[in-house]
Parts: sequence; structure tokens; C-alpha cells
Amino acid sequence: MSNHAALAQRFNQDEKRVDWHDKTLWLVREKRDATSHAIPDWEKLRETASRIKFNVLSHLDTYLVQFEEKARQNGIIVHWAKDAQEHNNIVLSILEKHQAKKIVKSKSMLTEECGLNHFLEEKNYQIIDTDLGERIVQLAKETPSHIVLPCIHKKKEEIGEIFHENLSAPKGLADPQQLTEIAKQDLRNHFLTANVAMTGVNFAVAETGEFVVCTNEGNADMGAHLAKVHIACMGLEKVIPERRSLGVFLRLLARSATGQSITSYSSHFKKPRKGQEIHVVIVDNGRSTQLGSDKFRNSLKCIRCGACFNTCPVYRRSGGHSYHTAIAGPIGSILAPNRDLEKYKDLPFACSLCGSCANVCPVKIDLDTQLYGMRQEIVKAGYGGFIKDIAMRQAAKMLSSTKRYEKLKKKLKFGYKRTPFLIKNKLNPWYQHREMPELAKESFKEWYLKNKRNEQ
Ligand code: SF4
Repeated sequence: MSNHAALAQRFNQDEKRVDWHDKTLWLVREKRDATSHAIPDWEKLRETASRIKFNVLSHLDTYLVQFEEKARQNGIIVHWAKDAQEHNNIVLSILEKHQAKKIVKSKSMLTEECGLNHFLEEKNYQIIDTDLGERIVQLAKETPSHIVLPCIHKKKEEIGEIFHENLSAPKGLADPQQLTEIAKQDLRNHFLTANVAMTGVNFAVAETGEFVVCTNEGNADMGAHLAKVHIACMGLEKVIPERRSLGVFLRLLARSATGQSITSYSSHFKKPRKGQEIHVVIVDNGRSTQLGSDKFRNSLKCIRCGACFNTCPVYRRSGGHSYHTAIAGPIGSILAPNRDLEKYKDLPFACSLCGSCANVCPVKIDLDTQLYGMRQEIVKAGYGGFIKDIAMRQAAKMLSSTKRYEKLKKKLKFGYKRTPFLIKNKLNPWYQHREMPELAKESFKEWYLKNKRNEQ
């Protein structure tokens, strides 16, 4: 089943979980508000970040080539991947070259997007996610439901059960501190025995050829500092022109993501230490097509902070897995259909168009406008659904003529009075979640004409 409405319905069966999910994420949104309002020039920062990203997208080829040149000069090996398959094959070839069988990975949504874990596990490689939230969902054989808080859908009691089954934790343990300690001991062992470390890239600096990885747990550093090979995977939009721009993005990122002033670890990787290899894989996977689209290019400005998830009333009440794509929420509902319109045609409709996402986005992406635009693309491409298509065509015809509209209104009123069950029945999906209002005795137009006449 891969349809947002059906998957959300499944999530909604547990009302208590929905309430708790909703409140927890709203709490993060409130923290974001408090820390961002504490900075007087917050709006200026957003505007600056948006403009820097606009510049990047306008000269992406130049900045990427500059980054590649500088990185190579620093001793980093740079690869280019046109799609997910090529990315996975490049990673595989590096592992084969080093005869590495165990990989520790810090959180990277790009590798989720490329299905790397599954790809490597099928080939008998052991890939260990080291971000605590990611490790929990990995042990639960699930995928992350949020880009910053990957296991936000899980309660501590459930995590205790997962650790009991997989890490020999005592039965019934639900103390977060003790659970974290158990995960830490287990991860420590993996860090010490892995031959390769993988990380994502938050920002790649064109002028210096370095890249920056932000984590709260220091797991990217642990992996990269201990392993002989470090593979960093980045979407091609992650490049920024200058090191000084980092000051803008790092201030925005943590505040928008979790309401922290700064992420605990913002680690800069510039050159391999003696005896180490650093590889950077720059991935396209549909991004250049998106870059060529006037309507949707702006979504490539995204810095993956997750603020649009936390504020979204639909995401908070439907859970991340209902989006059936690596990146859920409002931004995922734009990125995924850009890659595969048919497969993800349901996502832009999982939106109330309230615009809250655009209000909090640190790089000022016009998310709601893009979601609305994407709906139009879906209908134009013929994926709107047969019944909806006919209904909308008929509605357009009726609403474009007052005479036709009046006639139809009378017919519908008459029909509804005689056969209300045609609408009020459980097979009608629209009625399943709504109450049908009583019909007004007279329409506004009739009331207006009568009262206007009375006035005269
Ligand atoms: S679209 Fe904006 S708010 Fe959403 S994750 Fe990206 S940067 Fe953050």
C-alpha cells in the first residue's frame, strides 16, 4: 500500500499516539520559535541564506567544479553519480577496493534516498547506522520517519523492547538514559571494528574544498576519525561558495531543526590524515532536472532542517511513514514527485495549503505555492484520477455560467432532499470523515434579493 491517505488512516487508528506525536513535534516548533525570536536579525539571516542559495543554484556548475578542484588539491577523491544506482555502485567499488565488510554510517538522508543500506545488505555487507535515532529504526527494521528526528514515532517503552530483543537490554527497561548507554556501548564496539565510515554532507565549501557535517552525538567524527576510509555522500545542491557563508547557515540550521543555538558538533573535513582516504560522492539523482524547472527549482535550496515537518498539521497527524518516501513532510512532497510524478502523485494533496511551512523555512522556500503548482502538474499529466477529472471538468463548466449553475443548484437541492443516502453513505470517501450540514432553507442569493427588495 503506497498511498498517503491509506497509510495515514493506519497511523490514525492509534489516537493516543497521534496526539502524542502531534504535541511532541509542536513542542519542537515552539522551541524553534523561542530561539529564532531571540535573534533580532533572524529575518535578515533567512533572506541572506535564501539569496546565497539563489546564487548557488544560478552558478551550480561553476561552484561544483571549483569544489571538485579544491578538494582534489587537498587530497580528497571526488566521484560523480548521476543516479542512486551509480551512487551505490561507487560506494560498493570503494568497499571492494579496501576489502571492507563493515561500515559505520552517520545519518545521511541521501543514502536513504538511494536505498544504500538495502543494496549493501543484499550483498552481505554489514552497515551500522550510528545516529541513535537511526540505529533504533534500523534495529526495528524500519526507515526514518523524520529527517532530523528519525524515530520520533517511537515511544521509549517500544525502544526498550527493541533493545531487549536486539541488544540484550533487561526486559521492561524504558529509561532513556540507560537505553542510550546500552546503545552507546554497542556502537562503540562497531566504531572500533569498522573499516569504513560513511557520512552525509551538510555544506561543501567551493572556495576551500572542505565539507561540514553537523551532528549532535559526534558519531560522524567517531566514525571518520577511527576508520581508514571515509566516504562522504552529498546531493549536488549542498555546495556553498565561501566559508564565511557557513556562519549564516549554521545559525539557521540548528535553530530551525531543534531549537538549539548551535549543533553540538559542526565538523570540518578538509584533507585525509596520513594513511587515510577520503572520498566524496556528488550525486545528481534528478536534481539537475529540477534545477531546470522554473517552478520547482527553489526547493533545491533546502538545508534539511525539518522545520516544515514540525509545523505541518498534516505531517504531525499522519506520521512520516505515510509519505512512503525517504524525505517526508512538505519538502518531501515536492522533491519526490519531481523525481517520479506518477509514483508520488498523492503527496502534494496531503497538504492543507495553510502556508505554515513557508513561514518557518530558514531559506524561504515557497513550499505552499510549489505544492499547489505540483498539484496542477499532476492533473495536467493525467494522474488526477478519472472520477476527479470528470467531476472537475463538469464543475468548471457549471461554474462558468450563472444559468447553468442556478439550474444545477436546484437539481442538486431537489435530489439531496429526496435521496440523501446517495451522499450520506459509508462508500462515499468524502462523507466518511465529515458530517453533512443541513441544507439552508434559502440560498444567500435568494435571501439577498428578498431583503434588497424589502429595503426598496
Ligand atoms: S524546506 Fe525549508 S523548512 Fe523544510 S527542511 Fe528544507 S530548509 Fe527546512
